[in-house]
Order: sequence, then C-alpha cells, then structure tokens
Amino acid sequence: IVAFEGLTERLQNAIGKLRRKGKISESDVKEVMREIRLALLEADVNFKVVKDFVKTVRSRAIGAEVLESLTPAQQIVKIVNEELVKVMGEEAAPLNKSAKIPTIIMMVGLQGAGKTTTASKLANKLKKEKNARPFMIAADVYRPAAIDQLKILGKDIDVPVFSLGVDVDPVEIVRQGLEEAKDKKNDYVIIDTAGRLQIDEKLMQELSSIKELAQPDEILLTVDAMTGQNAVEVAKGFNDQLDVTGVVLTKLDGDTRGGAALSIRAVTGKPIKFIGQGEKMTDLDVFYPDRMASRILG
Ligand code: GDP
Repeated sequence: IVAFEGLTERLQNAIGKLRRKGKISESDVKEVMREIRLALLEADVNFKVVKDFVKTVRSRAIGAEVLESLTPAQQIVKIVNEELVKVMGEEAAPLNKSAKIPTIIMMVGLQGAGKTTTASKLANKLKKEKNARPFMIAADVYRPAAIDQLKILGKDIDVPVFSLGVDVDPVEIVRQGLEEAKDKKNDYVIIDTAGRLQIDEKLMQELSSIKELAQPDEILLTVDAMTGQNAVEVAKGFNDQLDVTGVVLTKLDGDTRGGAALSIRAVTGKPIKFIGQGEKMTDLDVFYPDRMASRILG
C-alpha cells in the first residue's frame, strides 16, 4: 500500500539498528521508541493514539523477555506488530446482516469522500461474492449529478437504482425506495445519502431522519484517507451524531500518509470495515487489521 511506504521504511530503519546489536539495554529500547514515535507522527497518526501506542510497546519491550532475548529486534517487531493489529481493531469486522431481508445499509459521509462510488462498489461486491440481489436508493438530492452518477454505476454493475429526482424530500425517497425493495424482495438495500463540504446541523438532521425511518442494520461512514487527520475528525463528528456502525476508508491508493487507518478505530471506537483502493468497481476490499499491520511493517 502506497500510503505506508514512508512509515514502513522508517520503522524498518529504526528497528534495523537493533539488529546489529547483540543484547539490548533499556536505553536502546527508549531510543528505538523515540524513532517509532516520530515515524508514526510523520505518517499522520493521531497524537494521542501515538502516545498510547508508544507507551504500551515501550513497557512491553522493557519487560525482561526482550532484554534477555538473543533476538531483541525480532521481539520488538513482534510487539509492534501485535500492537498495530490491536490499534486497528484486531479482527476484520463483517458487514451486519439482518435476520430477515432486506439488510439495510445507509451510506453517509462528506461530499467527495467517495460515498456514491463506494455504495456501488459494495453493491457489486455483494452481488459477486454473496450472490445477493442488492437495490440502491439515490437520496443525495444536493450534489449535482449524484443521482445520475449512481444510475450510471448501477447500470454498469446491473443493480437497480431507485430515484425520484432532486425535488422530493430525501426521507420520502427512502420511504418509497424501501417499499419497492421490499416488494421486489431484494435482500440488500444500499441508501446513498447527501454529503456536504463539512459537517453541519442541517445535514445531520436529515441523516438522523433517514436513520429513524430506515432503521438501518449498518451505517457506513465513508471517509477520504487523503485528508489525514481531518478524516479522523470527520469520523468522530459523524459518529457522535449518528452512532455509525463502521467506516470505509477510501483513496488508500492515493498519495496519502495513511495515518487515518491507524487512528480511526482508536478515536471513534468504530471499526474500519472496508478500504477503497481505486476508482474501479472492484477496488473495494475487506479491511484486515493483521494484514495491514504486516504490510506496514514490510
Ligand atoms: P461522494 O461525493 O462522496 O459521493 O463521492 P464520489 O463517490 O463521487 O467520489 C468522489 C471521487 O473520488 C470520484 O472521482 C471517485 O471516483 C473517487 N474515488 C472514490 N473512491 C476512491 C478510491 O478508493 N480511490 C480513488 N483513487 N478514487 C476514489
């Protein structure tokens, strides 16, 4: 992952210095932890997350086994790896599923984060991997062309898109869309909602009303990894208001430092469920904390 190239290199350098030593001392641990701390901050990881992470790794590393060990560098890599996995949420978090159809997924996020694209990628994934019959509702009535965009993507992946244009109240669009999906016995409904350039009261009220009506099984927040710590702030804002169930981190293929991936879980308590790594319909992957940690360590 491009996003972590800088971090990987710095972590490898920091830990590499230990490899040249036989046994290490407490001050060697402190030195390597200083470097790891800087590497994480430079990768744009939230400062509080970095602080807690470094504290935990340092105290584990100073524990007797590492200092007594003949392979201290490996021991530290192991600890760093375990703590990275922990910070990202341990296990992959599966998509929630309703006991009876349809499972309702509400997509939320700021304008430009990749919500509409992700809604379609997810529909495509469900169709391809689960043989599902997804149905999408176009309720973003504010961004010019959002509805047409969803219709075009829906056509490409052969998934129906319900819309009533831009002049109908989004809550009403969702109400009618859900009715149609239930009539047609679609098993997943994905609702594309409006975003704005920043979080505001009106947007949150609209999203709350849609949430109340639709009672979604999953509220997936789409955030743009390229925006770094701002993505984490945005995630916190949405979660405070809507109690989201998961996060999709998009644009991890771009020129970003990737700190959001390491911060979101710790800051919001909500798991990253998927990552977007490109513009194509197939560029959506389940987020596995352990795989991500291995890739970060290189
Ligand atoms: P929305 O306003 O949140 O609905 O955002 P869109 O779905 O329209 O996405 C905004 C732009 O980001 C579009 O050009 C998408 O193709 C692009 N995009 C979305 N996800 C990704 C991703 O994972 N990687 C890259 N490179 N581009 C993405």
